[in-house]
Amino acid sequence: MKILVINCGSSSLKYQLFNMDDHSVMAKGLCERIGIEGSLLKHTKTGMDTVEMEKPMENHKDAVALVLDMLVDDKYGVITDVSEITAVGHRVVHAGQKYSDSVIVDEDVKKVVKECFDFAPLHNPANLIGIEACEHAMPGTPNVAVFDTAFHQTMPEKAYMYAVPYEYYEKYGVRRYGFHGTSHAFVSSKAIELGELDKDNSKIIVCHIGNGGSVSAVQNGKCIDTSMGLTPLEGLIMGTRSGDIDPAVVQFIAHKEDKTLDDVLNILNKKSGVLGISGVSSDFRDLTKAAEDGNHRAEIAIEAYAYRIAKYIGAYTTAMNGVDAIVFTAGVGENNGAIRKNICEYLGYLGVELDDGENAKRGEDLVISTAASKVKIMVIPTNEELKIAQETLALVK
Ligand code: ADP
Repeated sequence: MKILVINCGSSSLKYQLFNMDDHSVMAKGLCERIGIEGSLLKHTKTGMDTVEMEKPMENHKDAVALVLDMLVDDKYGVITDVSEITAVGHRVVHAGQKYSDSVIVDEDVKKVVKECFDFAPLHNPANLIGIEACEHAMPGTPNVAVFDTAFHQTMPEKAYMYAVPYEYYEKYGVRRYGFHGTSHAFVSSKAIELGELDKDNSKIIVCHIGNGGSVSAVQNGKCIDTSMGLTPLEGLIMGTRSGDIDPAVVQFIAHKEDKTLDDVLNILNKKSGVLGISGVSSDFRDLTKAAEDGNHRAEIAIEAYAYRIAKYIGAYTTAMNGVDAIVFTAGVGENNGAIRKNICEYLGYLGVELDDGENAKRGEDLVISTAASKVKIMVIPTNEELKIAQETLALVK
């Protein structure tokens, strides 16, 4: 069976077509600048070079139509007819408190996605447009919504309530939701296999650290806490997001710099994090180079970044009264051994011992702690698209 996975942003659409018999990617690509002059389609048929073509795409409907044309194209295509696609899995960012699992899209589901526009104003509208574009282009083919927030819905009230007047929770759903749920679910379940853990008696901390970043505590296969909140701004120091700060900073900066609330929130989302501290870049490859060249602010950014993650690991170890495995994933977690080492240096009190040889490896599921380490440290590359395809298949089979 073939499953198409779609991830729509406000002006972009990423896609992957999976052959679910062996989980292989048949083709993948990206539509950029949708609705903007110079729209671009980048398409890769597995085993061939990526082709790039400028194609007018006024909206996501045009983009989906182009993607389907490419998938059946004589030269670059991988199927003969779009009817070979069993179902389409969509990444949808926010489901509020409504869904704790993926669902087949119907009118009620679309209503919920719409109701959550306020929570994820950049993502949910685009996600809905993607769903409707697929409904239009492939009538009769089921669409499945896989939510970033779903895996975290098992958090208990004590973990998700903010200590603000309760009426804001009741009236507006102001609470912690968490994000990257697809990744936390995928990686924590792989960690159980890799570490040969008993799922019903397991305590895992997943550090999903890429440009965005979040940590989750997964006990007996269920999320009990995660570092992102109502929005992805809470928690870790990220590429450009501040993570946790004293909320009074918002008012303070607004007054000092004569800025609106929206301006300051924009700064906290886009100009803060390691970029804000270092003034160099949000990308760890640039930061590392700058630190090696003696840039003190880049050094502090890296130190603060690792320190924050280590503190969350400490908090979540307390939340679960122990930890069996700590797993690193996403761009930084998978590729940056120095950051993993930096974080693990805080964890001696847990009996963590890193194997430097294993920590230097890349690109595969690995245990990077020594045999004597009391906690297993792992690197597990995340694959949100495959997880979306698996969830989709499970619902339509
Ligand atoms: P996003 O949150 O946008 O999905 P990613 O998971 O792709 O982000 O992570 C981006 C981060 O991962 C960047 O800071 C980048 O420096 C880092 N990264 C990606 N690949 C490598 C690599 N090969 N070596 C070191 N760092 C890397």
